[in-house]
Amino acid sequence: MTELISRHSVTGEELGRAPICSADDVRAAVQAARRAQAAWAALTVRQRLDALKPLRRLLLTQADALAQLIVAEQGKDQIEAYGEVLSSLDLLSFYARRAERALRPRRLWPRLGALRAHRLIAQPYGVVGVISPWNYPLMLSMDPLSAALVAGNAVVLKPSEYTPLIGLKIGELARQAGLPEGLVQVVTGDATTGQALIAGGIDKLVFTGSAANGRKVAALAGQHLVPVTLELGGKDAAIVLADADLDRAAEGVLWGALLNAGQACLAIERIYVEQPVAEAFTQKLVEKAQRLRVGPATDPCNDVGAITTEAQFNVVQQQLQEAIQRGARVLTGGQPLPGPGRFFPPTVLTNVTDDMALMRDETFGPLLPIRPVRDVEEAIQLTNASPYGLTASIWTRDVRRGRQLLARLAVSDASINEHGASSTYAEVGWGGRKASGFGRTRGVEGLYEMVIWQHLSWPRLDLPLMRFPYSAAKVDFVRALLYLLFGTGRERASALKNILRFLLHGGQGNA
Ligand code: NAD
Repeated sequence: MTELISRHSVTGEELGRAPICSADDVRAAVQAARRAQAAWAALTVRQRLDALKPLRRLLLTQADALAQLIVAEQGKDQIEAYGEVLSSLDLLSFYARRAERALRPRRLWPRLGALRAHRLIAQPYGVVGVISPWNYPLMLSMDPLSAALVAGNAVVLKPSEYTPLIGLKIGELARQAGLPEGLVQVVTGDATTGQALIAGGIDKLVFTGSAANGRKVAALAGQHLVPVTLELGGKDAAIVLADADLDRAAEGVLWGALLNAGQACLAIERIYVEQPVAEAFTQKLVEKAQRLRVGPATDPCNDVGAITTEAQFNVVQQQLQEAIQRGARVLTGGQPLPGPGRFFPPTVLTNVTDDMALMRDETFGPLLPIRPVRDVEEAIQLTNASPYGLTASIWTRDVRRGRQLLARLAVSDASINEHGASSTYAEVGWGGRKASGFGRTRGVEGLYEMVIWQHLSWPRLDLPLMRFPYSAAKVDFVRALLYLLFGTGRERASALKNILRFLLHGGQGNA
């Protein structure tokens, strides 16, 4: 197979083709990107932001085309497809407002280097590789791409094999926006193309994908000493406390679990409910789940869209069957809907145990297992027992008490009465803990992942202190310095006198 065939997420119709780029193709793309990067890096941050303005405009004027392509190739609902455009555009606009300040040179005053002037300057890495998944194909490609470009890097993007056309569209937008020839390269293909990119001479990698592949990617990046940001999977929990507004909690949990038909790294996949309200909450969740409309995103009123890949469809059904065989009760849903397309209804389960695959492994689908807990302590303990650490939410009327609990959740995004919303706030950096990855995208932190802070220094007073030959006087000087910095008042005064004497002798005298 030398080509990827992109298929409509519902009808299976061919949407277009894209090459599977070979290692030679990838190397050539990295080299071309490197050639373009030198001049790009020589621009000021403001000049780069100005050059990126047309791209922002194109994201807006082509929002309809982008959303339609996302709907066709990936299958999420229209409102969420537009949400990807909104979020990508919001990040670029945030950088337009904030990047100059974030990346400006920093003046430092190290006390051990006070005779010299010091600056830290943000140097781009060079060529940044971006390997993105299919579930948010625009946003998760654009986010690292925008940060990398603003910081002065070139980008080689390897989109998912399931959404290559969105990747190619990003390359087309970069060309239409008049960005320098070669600065943004798109190499389509599968995991082998991704591996070739890691080994192809890039200077930094942002990988978004599963934890299993993240481990392989980190190992390969390690071999090539390529620094890597990993955005991996999740098994995120919602904790419903006995004092929660159960209607609002059920609505919020439903949305948190079913956005993108559950195919979101931050989707709620475990629901812990305090025992006294478990039955009432479950009833509300079932009622509300049954009212949702499941079907193709071409109808703007559908709530739950398609499962994008056959592999994902199988995982959902396998986890469900395993749970049922081991005693779980399905309260609603449970059977795939008739085609065309892969649609699975919201499926609420009870009688689940902690060792079932659907309570342990990432599902990435519309399963909502409910597990009653004795109290909030048990819920926090279960939440934190997961190898993953992406997002979690607490549902309560007592915001003051809830706030005390948030920081105890071993996740990187914890919220009250909302789930994982910060993933779309441009101002807030995004990233995981534990098996959910490391490093940050978005926010100022996302920019900092794209630069090396280079230290520049030059003499204020041309008095080199540490030179050979060593001498007893220099040993005394260092001892005096220790007392000057860390001694008592009297010790410091005497040390200062000794140091001044040493300096007056041109750094050679007796301290
Ligand atoms: P995936 O790991 O199968 O693939 C992701 C990308 O990596 C694709 O482009 C793929 O071709 C490439 N790839 C796969 N194996 C590779 C390898 N060994 N070397 C180099 N490249 C390789 O993931 P997916 O199925 O596309 O996406 C779903 C996964 O992504 C889920 O686990 C989800 O939780 C995770 N995800 C995480 C975040 C986050 O921000 N933390 C966001 C979205 C998705």
